[in-house]
Amino acid sequence: MFDSLTKSSGDHYITFASNERGKVLGTGNITLNSQFNLSKVLLVDTLGYNLLSISQLCDSGFNCLFTNEGVSVIRRSDDSIAFKGVLKGKLYLVDFSQEKAQLDTCLVAKSSLGWLRHLRLAHVGMRNLNKLLKGDHILELTNVSFEKDRVCSACQAGKQVGVPHPSKSIVTTLKPFELLHMDLFGPVAYISIGGNKYSFFIVDDYSRFTWVFFLHDKSVVQETFKKFAKRAQNEFETKIKKVRSDNGTKFKNTNIEEYLDEEGIGHEFSVPYTP
Ligand SMILES: [Zn+2]
Repeated sequence: MFDSLTKSSGDHYITFASNERGKVLGTGNITLNSQFNLSKVLLVDTLGYNLLSISQLCDSGFNCLFTNEGVSVIRRSDDSIAFKGVLKGKLYLVDFSQEKAQLDTCLVAKSSLGWLRHLRLAHVGMRNLNKLLKGDHILELTNVSFEKDRVCSACQAGKQVGVPHPSKSIVTTLKPFELLHMDLFGPVAYISIGGNKYSFFIVDDYSRFTWVFFLHDKSVVQETFKKFAKRAQNEFETKIKKVRSDNGTKFKNTNIEEYLDEEGIGHEFSVPYTP
């Protein structure tokens, strides 16, 4: 079984759980399959089982994942599986004589390792990853090939451009301020330098002219609209007939409804999910 074996010099013992001791006869290397070999294996007298030391596996660059079904020993260097074992009774057994132990050594191809780096480094392009590799800019980044042999679905989705909405060619309103569309965005995660959290949009249906107001609080929506309406009606000598917003709860607690009622301006709601 051993590829090489060095006989122990002096007396060295291993103590088992049953308090029995076994004499260490020698230390050697064992090649289990083409992908995996064990070093510093102790040959112990009277030991009926071949035992794998977890701490030694971890020391030599492996991670062990124990579950209720078995154990997977994973190479820390590239996350590939070195071998697997099954849980039988209270023991985790690894059968290296069977092809299965080898078969499950899901070998990560070099190119897919490249893709793994692509994912981990925030979807950097393959060309830049190659630059990093060639320039030795990342420690331990060796033995990886960065080939653009497939399309990353996340990158593709990120670069896709949405089809614009078809422009509305028919204008149903006959003059400015007949119908105003309005919407309220916010609160935003990052407050602007001016301390504003909300954006209040008003679009004139006829001219498509747009006004944007940045507000620090929802409570000033009514006041803002009041001022806007007063100025617009005065300047253009017209009356605002209707406003339209989506049926959301954005304008709740803004008291804009009260003002609209007072002024006799109709409030329509657009059908949800239609632009
Ligand atoms: Zn990507």
